[in-house]
Amino acid sequence: MSVEFAERLLPRLPEIVASQGTPFHIYDARGIVAAHKALARAFGEIPYRQYFAVKALPNPAVLALLRAAGSGFDCSSPVELRIAAAVGARRGDVVFTSNNTTPAEYRSARDAGALITFDDRSFAEKADELPEVVAFRVSPTGLAAGSPLMGDAAHSKFGVPAGELAAAYADAAARGARRFGIHGMTCANELDTGRAAQAAADVIRLGARVAEEAGIELEYVNVGGGLGIPYRLDDEPIDITAYADEILAAREKIFGVDGPRVITEIGRYVTGPHGVLVTRVINRCRKGHEIAGVDASMSSLMRPAMYGAYHHVSLPYAEGRPAGRFDVVGALCENMDRFAVGRELPEPRDGDIALIHDTGAHGHAMGFTYNGRLRPAELMLTDAGDVVEIRRAETYEDYMATVRWEFDRG
Ligand SMILES: *Cc1c(COP(=O)(O)O)cnc(C)c1O
Repeated sequence: MSVEFAERLLPRLPEIVASQGTPFHIYDARGIVAAHKALARAFGEIPYRQYFAVKALPNPAVLALLRAAGSGFDCSSPVELRIAAAVGARRGDVVFTSNNTTPAEYRSARDAGALITFDDRSFAEKADELPEVVAFRVSPTGLAAGSPLMGDAAHSKFGVPAGELAAAYADAAARGARRFGIHGMTCANELDTGRAAQAAADVIRLGARVAEEAGIELEYVNVGGGLGIPYRLDDEPIDITAYADEILAAREKIFGVDGPRVITEIGRYVTGPHGVLVTRVINRCRKGHEIAGVDASMSSLMRPAMYGAYHHVSLPYAEGRPAGRFDVVGALCENMDRFAVGRELPEPRDGDIALIHDTGAHGHAMGFTYNGRLRPAELMLTDAGDVVEIRRAETYEDYMATVRWEFDRG
C-alpha cells in the first residue's frame, strides 16, 4: 500500500469500518490514475498505448477512471469485452488477448473492433474470417520462460513456439491478413527492472526476425504485462522510466525511429498497490502456534493460498503491543486458507482492524463463494476524499439467484 494511500485512509478507517462493516476491499483512485500516468509519461512521445488488463480489477468504476486518463483495455473473454464497452471503450480502445478461445469468442472481439492476439496457429486457422490486423502470442522464451505463473515453452499452455511464428504469419498473410502485430507476455510479477526490460526487448528482436522471415511488416509490438509490485516492505519498486527507456532504445536500434508502436497490457503495476483488504480479527487461538482468525477468507483474496504469494499484513491501531508470530487465517474448510503463516505482528486482539495489503490487482477479481463465504464489497477513496461503495457485498439472494429449484423463499 502506498504511503500516500495509508496517510489518506488510516485516519478515517475506523469510521468507515463502523459504518460499512468488514471485510471489504478499498481502492485509492488517486494512486491508480497516477500509476497509469506514470506509465504514459515514461513511454513519452513515441506511438504507445497502455491497455489495462481488465482481469486484474474489473470494477467498472475503476475502469472508467482509467479510461478518462487515456487507458485502453486488455480483455480476455466476451464478458470482459462487454464490461469495457459498458464504460465507453470504442473500436481501437481494446486488445483481446486470450487463450483456449473459440471462434465465436474471436468473432465477438472482432465485432468490438479489438486488436486480436491469437494464442495458437490452430485458433487462427479455425476463425471463419481473420481480422484486418493479426497478432500471434509467442510462447515464453528466454528470460520469460521458467516462471511458475506461465511455465517454460515446453510446459506452458501459452503462445506459439518461436520457431513456428514465421509460418503462422505467412499463413495469415496467405489468407488475406495485411497488417500485423506480435505479442509476448514477457514476465510475471517481475520486480527486476533490467530483466523485465530485457525480456520485452527479446520480443522486439524476435518480432523483427520473424517479420523478415515471413515477409510481413509489424505495426505493433505488444510486450504484455507482468511488472511486479513491492509486496514485501523491503522490495524495490520497478523503475518505470528505466524500463520504458530500455524498451524504446531496443525498438529504435532494431527497427529505427519509425518502428512499430509499443503496446503494454499491464494490470498489477497500475492497481495492485492501490488496494487493501480491510478485515477484523474475530478469534485468537493457540495450537502449538498462534492463530489470529480474521473475518475475510481466501474467497476474498486467493493469491496467498493459490501461489503462496506474500501479502503484507498490518494491524495499524495495535502499535506498541508485544510482537509475536501468528498465522492469519480465514474461515474456509481448507487448511490453505491462510493469509500469512508465522508472520511477525503486534499481538492481535478480537475486534482489531487488520489490513491485508496490495489487493488492488488479482484480488477481489479472483474471488469465489466456496463454503458460502460470499465476495465482499469494494469501496473507493476518490480523489476528492469521498468514500464510495463501488460494488456491494454479495448476499444470500445473489448466491441463490442462479439456482433452478422450487424452494420457499421465506
Ligand atoms: C494477466 C495478463 C496481463 C496482466 O498481467 P499483470 O501481471 O497484471 O500486469 C496481461 N496480458 C496477459 C495476456 C495476461 O494474461
